[in-house]
Amino acid sequence: MVEEARKPHIEVENLEIHYGTVPAVRGVSFSVQPGEQLTLLGPSGCGKTTTLRAIAGLEQPSAGEIRIGGAAVYSSAQHVNIPAEKRGLSMVFQSYAIWPHMTVFENVAYGLRVRRESKEAIVVKVDRALDMVQMRPYRDRGASQLSGGQQQRVALARAFVFQPQVLLFDEPLSNLDAKLRGDMRIELRELQHRLGVTSVYVTHDLEEALAMSDRIVVMRDGLIAQVGSPGDIYNTPRNAFVADFVGSANLISGKHRTDLDADGLIALETPSGAILYGMAHGRPAGATLTMSVRTVHLHLSLQKPNASRNVWPVRIERTVFQGDFTQTHVAWGDQRLVVRAAGIEPLAEGQQAFMTVDPGRVVLLEE
Ligand code: ATP
Repeated sequence: MVEEARKPHIEVENLEIHYGTVPAVRGVSFSVQPGEQLTLLGPSGCGKTTTLRAIAGLEQPSAGEIRIGGAAVYSSAQHVNIPAEKRGLSMVFQSYAIWPHMTVFENVAYGLRVRRESKEAIVVKVDRALDMVQMRPYRDRGASQLSGGQQQRVALARAFVFQPQVLLFDEPLSNLDAKLRGDMRIELRELQHRLGVTSVYVTHDLEEALAMSDRIVVMRDGLIAQVGSPGDIYNTPRNAFVADFVGSANLISGKHRTDLDADGLIALETPSGAILYGMAHGRPAGATLTMSVRTVHLHLSLQKPNASRNVWPVRIERTVFQGDFTQTHVAWGDQRLVVRAAGIEPLAEGQQAFMTVDPGRVVLLEE
């Protein structure tokens, strides 16, 4: 109920952006609630950075509207285009552009000096920003003597020092090594929650998006493929693109056997005659269906499971040990499916086995 009363902090409406004649963003609409962390996720070239830069005022859209706190900062209809520095936001970039010849303090103070703030105010604000990212002990150190993670923290402090209402992040962790990226993800998420600052975050890294976001906007070719919480996007992908991009999935197509639909489940018959039961999630089910099954939701066993639905004989074709999990390729009729499982003894190649999946884990895709 409280949710409904809240007005969005950022609204993007029918945004279009062209580079010359090339459309980079082709009519994108979404909103960000106050204090929310929203992520634009998608493969390289899908238009996520261009969208973020348009919110920042660093890119001139060709049509649409962007409102911050209810006021238009860009509107093609009203001929409004507020300059970047008057939009009350801060941006953290991938290349954190720390000045190596300056101290940590000077790096963070720089923007305030440009704005001619008083010496006293600068000291108070810089120290507060350094405290936020636990970098006060390094205040007087030369920025070149910091690790990559520490430099990225300084870049964050530089964004926080203005106490912006909105923070924009453009792949801020992509220059860090995998382990540090994992740690910084959690740290950034906690910081964002603690400050309650509205954020828009751009990444092509799925794990990062799932771990950090309240909601995710999945983009493809300048359009929105799906908007939802990390759980929604992962558990009920709308289409084959999202199913495959957000995690790893098997896509199964076939005829709709309406005569076999039962117990709220819909029945799909594959070309080789297997019946797969799944959930429609309110989506229209036509004469032909495509369903998505996550590789981690399929289970293999030598003994026939007790379940009455979604149990089939399969042949093990190949197993690939991948450390945290084992990937098994199985022949299921004339289709090949992928099964991922952690902590199992791999089945022998060529062996006959049974495969099963909970119908609740099988999701009907939109056409
Ligand atoms: P990445 O993760 O690689 O940055 P992205 O999803 O952020 O990808 P954008 O950078 O927004 O994608 O680019 C969207 C499209 O616009 C791409 O096709 C890209 O080639 C094109 N594009 C981006 N910047 C320019 C530019 N300055 N001039 C011309 N075309 C551009």
